[in-house]
Amino acid sequence: MDIRTKAGELVSINPADGSEVARVAVTTPQELDAIVARAQKAYRETGWKELMPHKRAEVLHAIANGLLAEKETLASLQMRDNGKPISECRGMVDYAVGTFRYYASVCETLETDVTPRRGDYVSFTVLEPYGVVAAITPWNSPIMNDAAKVAPALAAGNAVILKPSEDAPLLAPELVRIAAAAGLPDGLLQVVQGYGADIGAALVAHKGVGMISFTGGTATGRAIGRVAGERIVPVALELGGKSPHVVFADANLEHAVAAVAAGIFGSSGQSCVAGSRLLVEESVYDEVVTRLVERAKRIVVAAPDAKGVEVGPLASFHHRDRVHAFVERARAEGGRVLCGGSAPEGAAYETGAYYLPTVIDGLPHDALSCQEEAFGPVLVVLPFKDEADLVAKANGTDFGLACGIWTENFKKAWRTGRALEAGSVWINTYKQSVTSTPFGGFKDSGIGREKGIDGLRLYAQVKSMYFGLHENPLPIAK
Ligand code: NAD
Repeated sequence: MDIRTKAGELVSINPADGSEVARVAVTTPQELDAIVARAQKAYRETGWKELMPHKRAEVLHAIANGLLAEKETLASLQMRDNGKPISECRGMVDYAVGTFRYYASVCETLETDVTPRRGDYVSFTVLEPYGVVAAITPWNSPIMNDAAKVAPALAAGNAVILKPSEDAPLLAPELVRIAAAAGLPDGLLQVVQGYGADIGAALVAHKGVGMISFTGGTATGRAIGRVAGERIVPVALELGGKSPHVVFADANLEHAVAAVAAGIFGSSGQSCVAGSRLLVEESVYDEVVTRLVERAKRIVVAAPDAKGVEVGPLASFHHRDRVHAFVERARAEGGRVLCGGSAPEGAAYETGAYYLPTVIDGLPHDALSCQEEAFGPVLVVLPFKDEADLVAKANGTDFGLACGIWTENFKKAWRTGRALEAGSVWINTYKQSVTSTPFGGFKDSGIGREKGIDGLRLYAQVKSMYFGLHENPLPIAK
């Protein structure tokens, strides 16, 4: 999707061919005030937070059913909005369905604690919602990222205001429509549209917002964190990465190379957990790089609905320009572009935002190209000598989102997996991320964990309650 600013609207452009998909109105500051007020009213007055958990779960299941019923239409819209291959878009709708079902189950089974007694009372905890949650999402996997926030936030009893990216605004309103049809009380899920610096910043700063859940770039996360700190509201930050993908000499190289290619070129590299830094043990460096480049050159880059497509266009024309600028800078830093490094040639690609799978080596590890996120199909490759060298390099960026390790040696996998600073460690696999397992970043990759049972607790605050059992009046001094 690309955007051209028209007065008061975002225009979604299909990055596969440059055609206009749809327009959405930008939310004004006055409308934002009304939306927040409506969310607060819904939170207080609809009875949602007081509803028995199994009854809230029924609504979440109904939302899942509604999403599933419209899977093809939603997947097609997602594909045209951000250019992902249709099979991935279907997978993202399935993921959203699974997320609503999972949090329906968590909602009705989550237990809180009766805490150990230290006096004449019974003490225990209950979970309470924050009120109005601002859920801010990026453009790379809209329906999936939206569901990852909306489902647990609603399950915990909150009202949610969803702010999708200006670069992929079309799926969020569909989710709101489907939720309303599924019986979610009026005002509990609303959307605001527009640019991050305008409506996003206004939402985060709004006094009526009681919790902020953000997924996006680290610089934006830092800015939002500052506002949340000033306002003293809880914030969850799911940010960027420069995830190391490690291949030891004893690895199954066929599987490792396939996973490295999938880990960086899948979704055109527009994935927070893309394995964008390949670290290969010196003795197999040449073999791995040769095999990888050969695989990268065979990748089918095509329209997102073409038969056999492996990699579609980037999500927007302006993002393709950013990715190309990243590659040009890598060249200027002394990198050797082993394949890709440009848009593909040919009539089929002329009107779309396509970019070739790109492999670059010959860079020092402290080059900006090895430190910063490209968020595109661009892989930098570096050799390592031994485990100590590997750990120093793998941990040698500000990020800590994910990593992959390929080795047939169990103890080495354990040692390395524990030593690497990353929220998710994949051993002899890559890019697995499921609703039932916590996800989040170390270091500049974020704060907090989405998904899993704790993904619901993220949207709830703990209240401790004491019931007195005293036989006598309380004394003033103990
Ligand atoms: P971005 O930070 O530019 O924007 C993300 C969202 O924040 C958008 O909705 C945007 O409008 C909004 N925003 C921007 N400035 C804002 C502000 N000052 N206040 C409030 N909202 C603001 O990121 P992007 O370009 O949309 O997405 C790409 C980034 O997202 C990459 O860095 C990627 O790694 C990261 N990402 C992380 C995860 C994760 O789970 N860790 C998942 C997907 C993407």
